[in-house]
Amino acid sequence: MSPMLALQRRHSPKCPDRKKGPNYLKCRGHCSMRICGMQNGKRVRTSLKTRDLQRAARRLAEMLDDEALGRSKVDPFVKTIFRPQ
Ligand SMILES: [Zn+2]
Repeated sequence: MSPMLALQRRHSPKCPDRKKGPNYLKCRGHCSMRICGMQNGKRVRTSLKTRDLQRAARRLAEMLDDEALGRSKVDPFVKTIFRPQ
C-alpha cells in the first residue's frame, strides 16, 4: 500500500492566499505547514512547526521513508543509529 501523505498549508486568517486552499503551498502569508493524509491505515495530521517549504518537504520525505521501511514509530534516537548509509 502506498503512503498517502501530502503537505498542506495551514493558512492564517490574515493570509492573502487563504482562499486558494490548504494545498496551495506557495502562499504569501508564510503560514505554517502540516502533513495530512493516511499512514499505516490511520489518519495523520501533523503540524510541522515550520513555515519553510524546503524543511517541510524534507520532513515529509522522512515520513515517507519511514513508511516504506515500516518503522514509522521508531524512536528518533534509535533511528539515527540504524539509519542506512
Ligand atoms: Zn497562507
